[in-house]
Amino acid sequence: MTERVALYPGSFDPLTNGHLDILSRAMRLADHVVVAILENDAKTPLFSVAERIEMLREILRDNPLTPVRSFSGLLVDFARESGATLIVRGLRAVSDYEYELQMALMNRRLAPSIDTVFLMANEEYSYLSSRLVKEVARLKGDLTGLVPDAVVRRLAAKF
Ligand code: ADP
Repeated sequence: MTERVALYPGSFDPLTNGHLDILSRAMRLADHVVVAILENDAKTPLFSVAERIEMLREILRDNPLTPVRSFSGLLVDFARESGATLIVRGLRAVSDYEYELQMALMNRRLAPSIDTVFLMANEEYSYLSSRLVKEVARLKGDLTGLVPDAVVRRLAAKF
């Protein structure tokens, strides 16, 4: 039997417990889930790609089945390179749906043999986004339980 590889792409700027929730659900669908950080300077991230790779590897270091990589260019090209047949995305609310649908359909057109699967966030995290986490961190709010400790520490160092 060949191994099933899924790709979980995103900005992860920074990683939240919502991302980890989706990742653990994805692990039930695939043998390996490659966490793929998109290199996108247009988004002016808080953490550089190198910082995000280091942070995610530290958090996932006990999970050999979830390697962390970064990529630029087309997602479907990186999926093919990684041997992935699934792309995993998380859905929080209806507002995520329209953009995600467009992307999934474009990716299907570019690579018909790769499917996008949507996993529903745990409702506990359905309001959680990297953007809000950064905002709360900037204003020195408490993020306990919303992001891993390694992220709390790095956010504190940034602000
Ligand atoms: P992107 O810039 O590609 O949206 P993100 O890091 O913001 O990157 O999100 C990556 C993926 O994780 C997306 O599919 C997003 O919907 C999902 N996601 C983000 N936050 C949560 C959350 N709290 N619960 C579930 N899924 C989430």
